[in-house]
Amino acid sequence: MTTKYTYQEKTLSPKAQQMRDILVDYIAVVSRRLPDDVTAKLSELSKIEVDPLQQLVYNTMWENQMLAEKLERPSCQDTGALQFFIKCGSHFPLLSELNDILKEAVFLATQKAPLRHNAVETFDEYNTGLNIGSGLPSVFTEIEGDSDKLEMYVYMAGGGCSLPGAAKVLMPGEGYEGVAKFVMDQMTSYGINACPPLLVGIGIGTSVEVAAMNSKLALMREVSSESPNENARKMEHLLEDGINNIGLGPQGFGGKKSVMGVNIINTARHPSVIGVAINVGCWSHRRGKILFDSELNYSLPLHQEVEL
Ligand code: SF4
Repeated sequence: MTTKYTYQEKTLSPKAQQMRDILVDYIAVVSRRLPDDVTAKLSELSKIEVDPLQQLVYNTMWENQMLAEKLERPSCQDTGALQFFIKCGSHFPLLSELNDILKEAVFLATQKAPLRHNAVETFDEYNTGLNIGSGLPSVFTEIEGDSDKLEMYVYMAGGGCSLPGAAKVLMPGEGYEGVAKFVMDQMTSYGINACPPLLVGIGIGTSVEVAAMNSKLALMREVSSESPNENARKMEHLLEDGINNIGLGPQGFGGKKSVMGVNIINTARHPSVIGVAINVGCWSHRRGKILFDSELNYSLPLHQEVEL
């Protein structure tokens, strides 16, 4: 017999409750308002697509965003599975309560925002109806030095945009041509499913989990940012041109631009292999960033005009 997932709200410290409440409000903002870099890039791309069909798609996106703000409803019905990518100083005062804060923030934001219930227990195949579940939200925490600050990306991983995700370890002889082939194979097979124009994150490292994490972190990088490595930067531009040439266009209706950008993050790797992974963000790339100090003063660098 299946034991159903249940959730007991936690007894958080007053400070933890304060952080949770800030995050509840910010998750709701992320669900309906695209980050500044994505809005700016979509605006830039919309001016390049001059044909009526593509213009119609972009105009529909703008209207969608206007209504999402006005009605305080999500930008897309698929509000994704919540993921958090955190860099936390070892002296941040709420480190020990962080996982409970995040789980409860998602639980409460689901009711307040509201968010779609996207948590299905694997193998048991039922929706918890809570938008949280075993190991969900996904929380990745890196402890950074002895600071008392915290930096967090909030990401809503939708179904369609997660679909092109893949990872593979290549033989060393396949080289960077192998990386390009892997990426292009994924994009020509699944890119259209992810609601273009896309942000394409590519990770390179030794094994699949390192490459996969690098590729997801590449989606956290701002849309128009570039790799600090000259060769990686060159590959970003070549892949961007290559994927644009597939001609997916906005929402797959054809057009000049299929991607908002291609971001690569690479780490040093074992010489015998090239681990490569791809992760994709859709036009509704709901990614937020929040910076806390130890007093819970916060800033929202990707949503400059937002006040919670
Ligand atoms: S790919 Fe993005 S825009 Fe398309 S349905 Fe999924 S979350 Fe929504």
